[in-house]
Amino acid sequence: MSDPDGVAAIFAEEAQKAGFHRVGFASVEPWERHEVYRRWLASGYAGEMEYMVADEAVRRDPRSLLKGARTLVTVALSYAHPDPAPATGTPRAFIARYARGADYHMVMKTRLHRLAEAAAARLGRPIATRACVDTAPLLEREAAHRSGLGFLAKNTLIIAPGLGSYLLLGELLTDAVATHQAPATPRCGQCRACLDACPTGAFVDAYTLDARRCISYLTIEARGAIPRDLRPLVEDMVFGCDRCQEVCPFNAAAPDGGPLLAPLPGHERPPLTELLAMGAARFRKFVRRTALRRVHRAQLLRNVAVALGNVGTPAELDALAAAFAEPSPLVRAHVAWAIGRLGERHPAASARAIVLLTARRSIEEDPSVLAEIDQALA
Ligand code: SF4
Ligand code: SF4
Repeated sequence: MSDPDGVAAIFAEEAQKAGFHRVGFASVEPWERHEVYRRWLASGYAGEMEYMVADEAVRRDPRSLLKGARTLVTVALSYAHPDPAPATGTPRAFIARYARGADYHMVMKTRLHRLAEAAAARLGRPIATRACVDTAPLLEREAAHRSGLGFLAKNTLIIAPGLGSYLLLGELLTDAVATHQAPATPRCGQCRACLDACPTGAFVDAYTLDARRCISYLTIEARGAIPRDLRPLVEDMVFGCDRCQEVCPFNAAAPDGGPLLAPLPGHERPPLTELLAMGAARFRKFVRRTALRRVHRAQLLRNVAVALGNVGTPAELDALAAAFAEPSPLVRAHVAWAIGRLGERHPAASARAIVLLTARRSIEEDPSVLAEIDQALA
């Protein structure tokens, strides 16, 4: 496609000024691989993410999001930051890297709007644009792949060679006409490190994820109980999982993502007992202006209880038992499981675990919590 006004060059320059680490340009034709996405949904792999099913038809054609769209500008923002060394002492929570800093929706949206304004100013005419972050019904990994920004990898993420996969993606649909780039070339080759490293075996195959088994889904998207057989595999992860990225050779030398999405104080490896004791006000403060807002307090406490069951020590038994005072049966049920699991992992603490579970059993009224207590005692 011809680009006499140098639109692509203008967008690329302004994207860099706006702080984006990579930019690509794609056509706005319907996705060739939409059928793959449709089959994935039909297999039930999206679990409770019903918004994906509801938006399925809209996601087929990017033009449905902006009348007159001619170009899809894709951008990537890196959140690659060093992971702190595992702390000794009190057990700590793992939070996925992308959620440790400022809410990427806000960071990305602000910069996409800035990019659109700067490009229009440089072109000297108004242009129609629509900024999309992951809340818009757009197949954004397909967009990134088609635009040459990065290739679709076996772990279903986008890898931008030289940057890695710790990337957040954004898109700007516009009626401006820019030169499109060639789609990226897949480069996973014979590697399958991510598929083998997944703690829950969530990959059905290369390029196909059963989200229902993925720890990111279980700790963020799933609103109800975490399946019992998967709870031990969640380890210390209370919000997301990066395992299939940590083992990827393309991330081994990823450059630092810089300050935009740098971790906030207290959000890298917070102590699990501190999270469990967070009241409503402290929870709101903890998640404010971060991607952690995605979960309700009861969901986070559910996850924290599971993590304490998996990595806690007998010293945390009483903190767990104190969480029986939580009003949410979801939390209390997972606390019961966690006390049982902790007692199982530490035989010296099993007598104390039994005392705590039995005491709660005598006053608990919710059937789902009673069932968990009985299973734990058994
Ligand atoms: S995020 Fe974790 S659980 Fe999900 S697919 Fe990757 S390794 Fe598996
Ligand atoms: S770990 Fe290997 S197979 Fe998985 S995404 Fe990275 S390069 Fe591809």
